Amino acid sequence: PFEKSKGQHILKNPMLVDTIVHKSGIKPTDVVLEIGPGTGNLTKKLLEVAKSVVAVELDPRMVLELNRRFQGTPHSNSLKVIQGDVLKCELPYFDICVANIPYQISSPLTFKLLAHRPAFRCAVIMFQREFAMRLVANPGDNLYCRLSVNTQLLARISHLLKVGRNNFRPPPKVDSSVVRIEPRRPLPPVSFKEWDGMVRLCFNRKNKTLGSIFKQKSVISLLEKNYRTLQALQLNNKSQLEEDKVSLEDVAVLADMVEDLSMGNSDEKDDQEMEVEDMDMVGEDGNDASFKAIVLGILKQGDFAEKRAAKLTQVDFLYLLSLFNKAGIHFS
Ligand code: SAM
Repeated sequence: PFEKSKGQHILKNPMLVDTIVHKSGIKPTDVVLEIGPGTGNLTKKLLEVAKSVVAVELDPRMVLELNRRFQGTPHSNSLKVIQGDVLKCELPYFDICVANIPYQISSPLTFKLLAHRPAFRCAVIMFQREFAMRLVANPGDNLYCRLSVNTQLLARISHLLKVGRNNFRPPPKVDSSVVRIEPRRPLPPVSFKEWDGMVRLCFNRKNKTLGSIFKQKSVISLLEKNYRTLQALQLNNKSQLEEDKVSLEDVAVLADMVEDLSMGNSDEKDDQEMEVEDMDMVGEDGNDASFKAIVLGILKQGDFAEKRAAKLTQVDFLYLLSLFNKAGIHFS
């Protein structure tokens, strides 16, 4: 009996398992991390090509079955099974991750892997089709969202394989896709927290112009508060800010992004709310107004005022962040 709550959908098509293992490009010297090995159909093939496999499985019954399956086989010494929640346990060293995961952990798991050090070579993971398409979406694509921009900052992502629901037992309600994730080396020199802070704002309404997003009173006062805090703390000097950068190891920050990222479609808020916020601007005090002018000036300077997040590339976002930072404006 498989447990729905644990996302237990077993791969029953051996050819598909072969294809996944083949596409992951495992070398005989590689340590492979498998997440959610279940009954071990994928594990078996991984053991045949890798130096060793570390498998993290939540369900103690599956752990028992797995150990029983490989006991006394030539591979029993190269398999280590860890019983636990992959989101809570400390990950061991690995070169490659291959996994058919429970879809409910897609987003936090992706960021946990990307924050892991030392960085792995690549991860080949089965995701729900829509999540996979969000990961690989390009500017202008329907599914392009905060998840796309944030993961693509940290990794190269490619779509490997479409997988229909009937390859699983029991079949899930949605189709799936296998995706390859290769961490970027080196990482772009930005503070991830700050990057995400800006990207989150921009995608809050991804089809609105940045001009209309950044003139909202709530946004202006948030940025102004950050600005004043920094000034007051005199943190505004370069050396301290440099230290802030490359803070990607911070799993907590990455895991924070979970709720928004899972579906990333917060852009569907209605426009009325927007108009009300705009009207709030009337009657603001002088300070707000001049800070607002600075922010809007920056957008103009980079020719961003009329642009929409839905069409901005990584390079556009990096440039926008650098313009803000140059003016002492920060997003975290
Ligand atoms: N790899 C097997 C296969 O392809 O046939 C099973 C895949 S099944 C989609 C997902 C597996 O992940 C299940 O065995 C489930 O018990 C396990 N699992 C669910 N949540 C987990 C978690 N948080 N940490 C580790 N394993 C988990």
